[in-house]
Amino acid sequence: MKKHQYEVIIVGGGGAGLMAALYASRSASTAVLSKLYPTRSHTGAAQGGVGAALGSSEEDHPEWHTFDTVKGSDYLGDQDSIEFMCEEAVPAIYELEHMGLPFDRTPDGKISQRPFGGHTNNITKKPVRRAAHAADRTGHMILQTLYQQCIKNQVKFFDEFHVVDVLVENGVTAGVVAIELATGEFHIFHAKSVIIATGGHGRIWEITSNAYAYTGDGLAITLRRGIPAEDMEFFQFHPTGIYKMGILITEGVRGEGGVLINGQGERFMERYAPTVKDLASRDVISRAMYIEMSEGRGINGKNYLYMDVRPEVVNKYAAIDGRKRSDGRPYEVTGEEILGKLPDIIDFCQTYLGVDPIMQPMPVQPTAHYAMGGIPTNMYGEVVIDENNTVLPGLYAAGEVACVSVHGANRLGTNSLLDLVVFGKYSGLKAAEYARGVDFPVLPPDAGDFARQQFDRIRNASGKERAVDIASEMKKVMFDHVGVFRVDAGMRTALAKVRELRERYLEVSVMDKGKLFNTEILNTWELGNLLELAEVTTVSALARTESRGAHARDDYPKRNDQDWLKHTLAWMRNGEIELRYKPVVLTKYEPKERVY
Ligand SMILES: Cc1cc2nc3c(=O)[nH]c(=O)nc-3n(C[C@H](O)[C@H](O)[C@H](O)COP(=O)(O)OP(=O)(O)OC[C@H]3O[C@@H](n4cnc5c(N)ncnc54)[C@H](O)[C@@H]3O)c2cc1C
Repeated sequence: MKKHQYEVIIVGGGGAGLMAALYASRSASTAVLSKLYPTRSHTGAAQGGVGAALGSSEEDHPEWHTFDTVKGSDYLGDQDSIEFMCEEAVPAIYELEHMGLPFDRTPDGKISQRPFGGHTNNITKKPVRRAAHAADRTGHMILQTLYQQCIKNQVKFFDEFHVVDVLVENGVTAGVVAIELATGEFHIFHAKSVIIATGGHGRIWEITSNAYAYTGDGLAITLRRGIPAEDMEFFQFHPTGIYKMGILITEGVRGEGGVLINGQGERFMERYAPTVKDLASRDVISRAMYIEMSEGRGINGKNYLYMDVRPEVVNKYAAIDGRKRSDGRPYEVTGEEILGKLPDIIDFCQTYLGVDPIMQPMPVQPTAHYAMGGIPTNMYGEVVIDENNTVLPGLYAAGEVACVSVHGANRLGTNSLLDLVVFGKYSGLKAAEYARGVDFPVLPPDAGDFARQQFDRIRNASGKERAVDIASEMKKVMFDHVGVFRVDAGMRTALAKVRELRERYLEVSVMDKGKLFNTEILNTWELGNLLELAEVTTVSALARTESRGAHARDDYPKRNDQDWLKHTLAWMRNGEIELRYKPVVLTKYEPKERVY
C-alpha cells in the first residue's frame, strides 16, 4: 500500500473541510482528501444564505441570533456552543467578504440580508433580515471562494480519494485509509490529526434534497471504530422540495415574500404560526403541510401544496402583513426583481417542471434535508466519545457530519453554512495546534486490513441481491415511517425492514470486479453505510418517547423536558446498537414552549 504522511489530514473538500484546511495549513503540513472534486461538494448546492447578526439594514444582535437558535433547536442545542457560533458569525462573514466572496449588496454598499425561517427581532417577534446571500447561490460562492484561497495557500489536494477507514491506535488517532478511484489502490495516510468533514446522510430517504454523495461515510467509519453517533433521531425535513423530485426550493423564496397555499387557495400557515406565518421553523411548517395534505387539503387532494412567489401574490400578502422595505416604503416586487434574487430556483423549475414561478405556483412537498445528528464534538471540533465528553486525541469533525450540538432538534435555515465556517475554522486551528505538540503516532502494523476486508467481501460476494433494490426499499420504508411524523408501530416496521435489508445486503454481488474507476464497488460500500445509519436513526427515534423539533411522534405529541432534555449517544457494538444519554448544556435560557 502506498503511504503518505501529513500532520493534518482533512477528509472532505466542502465548506467545512476547506475552511479547516485554510486554517490548519497556516502552521501544519495539510492535505485534503475528497471523494468528489472539491467544488462539486454539496455546499455548492446551498442556496438561500448564511446567518449572522450583521444588522446591515435593521437592528440585530448576536444575542437575538443565539436565542432564536436555542428556541429553533427546541432547547436541545448546547447553549454555550450556540452562543459561541452566533458571536463568531459576524467576524466570520466579514472574513469571507474580505476573501472576495461576492455577496449581494444593499443600495449603500453593505452586505445585503434577507429574512429566513425562525430568525426574529426578539422584541417585536417579527422576522429579521439576517441571511447574508449571493443571489440564490450562496453555498456555491462560499465553496469557490474557499477553494481559491486553499489553492493560493498551497493546500495539498487528493481529489477522488475515497476514505474508507480511520486509524486509531492506543486511543490516539493515527491517520486514514483511502481508495484512489482511478486505480482502485489503497493508500495509507499517516497523520497526527484527522478532521472528518464528509457532510450528511440524507440519501437514506426516498424524497431528498441531498446529493448522491450524501451517504454518511464519515459517520459510518467512526461508528465502526467504536465512536458514538449523537442525536441521530433528529433529521430535518425541509418544507419545500419539488414534488416527487425532492430538489430544494430555498426558504429564501419565502424570505422574498413567497407564501404556501393549500388546495382551497388558503394561506394555511396563518393558522399554525400566526406571527411569523410562512417563516416559522422548518419542522413546524413541514408538519403543518402534512396535516393539510392528510386532511384532504392538498392541491387536487394530492400530496403536494403550492409555493407561490408570483409578484401579485407576494405583493398582496406583503400588504396584509404590513411588510416594509428597509427604507420604510411598502414592500412591492416585480417579476424582474424576483428573477434577480432567485435566478437558480426559477431555472430549476423551468428545467425540471416546465413551470415558470413568475407566472405559476410551484408544486412542493417536504423533502429530507439535513442531519442535526452526527459525530459528537465540543465547540473546538474535538471529537468526544462518551457522556463525560472525553476527547479522542487527534480526531476532529466539522460541518454537517458533526454534532456540536448547535442545531439541537431542529436547525434554523442559514445556520449550517455558518456552522461550516465557524467550526471548520476552529477544528483547523485546534488540529494544527495539537499536531505541533506531538510526534507522529505509531501506525498500526495491520493499518489497511480492516478496510481491505470490507472491500474483499463486497468484491467476492456472489449472492443474487441487487444494491438498487435494497436502496429503494430502505428509502421508501424510512420515508414512510421515520419521516416527518412517527409512531411506535411504524418505526418498528421500519426497523425490522432495515435489519432484513442489512442481511440481504451481504448477498449483493457486483458485476464490475475490476480496479479502475470501480464506482460500483464504492457505491455498494456507501449503501452499507446508509443501512447502518438508517438502523441507528430508527433505534434512537424509537427510544425517544416524546416530540421535539424534527422528531414528531403522534403517540407522544408533547415535548417532555423532565425525561428527555438530553442528547442521545448511540454505539454500534458487535452489530448491536447501545444507547446512552448526556445532558444538554443550558446557560441563559430556560426551556420554554415554542410559540410562533
Ligand atoms: C440543496 C441544499 C441547499 C442548502 N441550502 C442551505 C442554505 O442556504 N444555508 C445553509 O446554511 N445551509 C444550507 N444547506 C445545508 C448546507 O449546505 C450543508 O449542510 C453544508 O454545505 C454541508 O457542508 P460540509 O462541508 O459539511 O459537507 P459537503 O459540502 O457536502 O462536503 C463533504 C465533502 O466530503 C467529501 N466526502 C464525503 N465522503 C467522503 C469519503 N468517504 N472520502 C473522502 N471524501 C468524502 C465529499 O467529497 C465532499 O467534498 C443546504 C443543503 C442542501 C442539500
